[in-house]
Amino acid sequence: MNQPKVNLHPKVGDEVRKTTCYMCACRCGIDVHVKTDGGRDRVAYIEGNRDHPVNRGVLCAKGSAGIMQHNAPARLRAPLKRVGERGEGKFEEISWDEAYEIAASWLRPIRETDPSKLAFFTGRDQSQSFTSWWAQAFGTPNYAAHGGFCSVNMAAGGIYTMGGAFWEFGQPDWERTKLFILFGVAEDHDSNPIKMGIGRMKGHGGRVVGVNPVRSGYNAVADDWFGVTPGTDGLLILSLVHCLLKAGKIDLDYLAQFTDAPVLIDARPGPTEGLPLKDDDGHALVWCRKENRPRCYDAEDVEPALNGAWEQDGVTHRTVFHHLAHKYLTPEYAPEAVAERTGIPAGRIHALAAAIARVAFDEAIELQQEWTDFRGRVHKTMTGRPVSFHAMRGISAHANGFQTCRALHLLQILIGSVETPGGFRFKPPYPKPATAHPKPHCKVTPGAPLDGPHLGFVHGPDDLCLREDGSPARIDKAFTWENPMSAHGMMHMVISNAHAGDPYEIDTLLLYMANMAWNSSMNTSGTMKMLADKKPDGSYVIPHIIYSDAYSSETVAFADLVLPDTTYLERHDCISLLDRPICEAEAAADAIRWPVVEPDRDVKGFQTALIELGAKLGLPGFVTEDGSQKFADYADYMVNHERRPGVGPLMGWRGNGEETGRGAPNPAQLDRYIANGGYCVAHIPDAAQFYKPWNRAYQDWAVELGLYDKAAPYIFTLWCEPLRRFQLAAEGHGDRQPPDHLRARIKATMDPLPIWWDPTAAHGGDGKYTITALTQRPAAMYHSWGSQNAWLRQIHGRNPLYLPTNLWEAHGFTDDDWARVTSPHGEIVVPVAHMPALNANTVWTWNAIGKRKGAWALRDDAPETEKGFLLNHLIHELLPPKADGMRWSNSDPITGQAAWFDLKVAIEKVAPPADGRARPDTGRQASPVGEGPDDLRWEVT
Ligand code: SF4
Repeated sequence: MNQPKVNLHPKVGDEVRKTTCYMCACRCGIDVHVKTDGGRDRVAYIEGNRDHPVNRGVLCAKGSAGIMQHNAPARLRAPLKRVGERGEGKFEEISWDEAYEIAASWLRPIRETDPSKLAFFTGRDQSQSFTSWWAQAFGTPNYAAHGGFCSVNMAAGGIYTMGGAFWEFGQPDWERTKLFILFGVAEDHDSNPIKMGIGRMKGHGGRVVGVNPVRSGYNAVADDWFGVTPGTDGLLILSLVHCLLKAGKIDLDYLAQFTDAPVLIDARPGPTEGLPLKDDDGHALVWCRKENRPRCYDAEDVEPALNGAWEQDGVTHRTVFHHLAHKYLTPEYAPEAVAERTGIPAGRIHALAAAIARVAFDEAIELQQEWTDFRGRVHKTMTGRPVSFHAMRGISAHANGFQTCRALHLLQILIGSVETPGGFRFKPPYPKPATAHPKPHCKVTPGAPLDGPHLGFVHGPDDLCLREDGSPARIDKAFTWENPMSAHGMMHMVISNAHAGDPYEIDTLLLYMANMAWNSSMNTSGTMKMLADKKPDGSYVIPHIIYSDAYSSETVAFADLVLPDTTYLERHDCISLLDRPICEAEAAADAIRWPVVEPDRDVKGFQTALIELGAKLGLPGFVTEDGSQKFADYADYMVNHERRPGVGPLMGWRGNGEETGRGAPNPAQLDRYIANGGYCVAHIPDAAQFYKPWNRAYQDWAVELGLYDKAAPYIFTLWCEPLRRFQLAAEGHGDRQPPDHLRARIKATMDPLPIWWDPTAAHGGDGKYTITALTQRPAAMYHSWGSQNAWLRQIHGRNPLYLPTNLWEAHGFTDDDWARVTSPHGEIVVPVAHMPALNANTVWTWNAIGKRKGAWALRDDAPETEKGFLLNHLIHELLPPKADGMRWSNSDPITGQAAWFDLKVAIEKVAPPADGRARPDTGRQASPVGEGPDDLRWEVT
């Protein structure tokens, strides 16, 4: 027989180079097969790194499509200087020397006179500890990354409540959890780890519950789906809290030992009312049932009582637990009272609460692992409550998102499932409470660095970033009375405020990896106009715009100067413990990227460009004593920069090459990372694996590794003291007072215990706009990046607006129909599609599929530009005017998180446009890189 000879194991490359994926935020390990072709290294194939702690060899479709990202026709080729008008996309290529000269000519004078004239904001930057350090050295208070318009409510809600949050800050105990409940999670972030985790827990019989208006992604594989009405997650969660309290299914011992539930709250009317009582050293007081008196919470033999009460001078101070039980046992939180509003029948809420209670208490687990707590008590075992939760942007991108995220943490803590076996576990460098983070700094001195880190956690009015006259110190108005606890800044307000000169005018806007002229802004058409707007004298309202991107995005067209970044396979990066590392609950871990292939264009990694520009400007830390450039490039910085003596960006192979965490810089460090597959892992000892905030073994290990300089145990804070401090100011107490127009809002929203309110009420609309409209980031792409990727475009070339069955039928839609969608702010005309697994009053679409003509090297008739669209045109960065002349941001009033998902719309069926194109038409930009070829393929031989 003549059998064909098939080579089942072709050699795909000459060499495997191991680095870190950047096709989304998960940072999986990848093996890049490289072939030398005509004297040049070329990427032949990408697969998962089987040893890597994040993905264990698993690679998603995006990850393998990295080869097309790396070879995309949309890659920028050299620095660009604008020669046309902003928005036109007309540039000339220039040298790096000329680019630095131009940038320095704008930046040098403002640094010497007023550094706050620079606003430096980064997007999906994975080097924030570096970019913020640069901005600090420059001296501007105006720095933040994209957290403010992404998920700051999730991060801040978690850190203020329990010293850590979901996503990269923690994970379920996948091996032991039996019930996993996801709130508002899209699958584009934390993709591989959650997919793998769900697979593992389903393998041992665990159940997955999805709470999400849209049954896509993880919700599609959930055993049970709750199609909650957007913005009501907090109400649903507090109803679950109500049910559990009523049934007595809460972990009393956990609450008494490890949380502030037994802490006494000051009941004296006046400036301290509602604050936790503390001793002279600032330690919270609990009621000790052993000695029948208030005592410090961390005293060795204290026995905290949840129901304690202290009679003092005619007032009774009661515990946090008393206050929360009193609050959430009221009928307003009963399932029957919230069913209609949340869209979830009362019986299903009761059933979910019962399932949580059954698994947490009837199926509790006990690990035979001895451990010692912060009071010095030895525990023979570890008790597990095998219910875990995960949440992300879906619940946080509402104006009530911070309190909703806190409500979810309250639920977790009440059942004792945080940092216990089977529950939610922190990943190093967490746990780390808000009090262990820096406070925000904003003191500007011409010609000198800022007085400290820009971002951080405020603990009361004294920490706000206000100028002496009380006006905002930052261009985005973060850390002001309008949004006091805006821990990640407010990137969505920067362009709007800079354009309005409110609170002041700026000179230069420096953006990195944030497509702010398109899908990363609310009010896209308005933002494009603001970026291109001119004063009567013909000069631009925002005088200078510098942008760094690897690709010819929409925002490139609005820049005066473009610094071309590399692709992720051509650069050095550190995924650092100083920043957003790749740790697991069982281990600390960090990683690098390195140039597995050299750029074939005149491009530089943005961080290296900042190092060179910083040296040219003479910024402290970037030059040596003789004024010469201190770091050759970003790789040099990664190895030799020390944030504290012995602690640098990378933890592995420090000192003589044998030290982990602490140690002097080691010139061979990057070689050791590369030899180890691009990452380093430091395992947490067995006795330190759980109860980390209170576990002496963990605290000691964290100090040894350099995560902290001394042990710092703490208790979870269900009662958020900073919130109460702002309320007290709004009630008239203290020297620093809010403006009168904000007093009522601060009092209403900044409750020290989680609350719920209708986040859409502030948008008005006279009852005309009743349907919630959501965007979801495509699982197959990472924000905009993917639009130029030939493989990924085949998955999402266009995006219809999905309607649930009742709206589909009520409007008489059929396949290939179109709709006009209106909001108080604008209208779009778009194709529609039917999706039954959707909340009955919600429509949605994918974000970042629609493209502007000329961008991303796409052809003018590409489906992305013809039928693709953005919902962003309907969302405004400001709330509708209130006739008070003020600009109210469309944000969470506590943290300033962009309230993307509070959008309400009206829908009507319209005839398909004659030209078959979605509206609005945003015009065309010229492409500095031309158009991609019709047929994008090549062979690496
Ligand atoms: S999950 Fe993200 S980081 Fe991991 S392979 Fe996929 S795209 Fe890359």
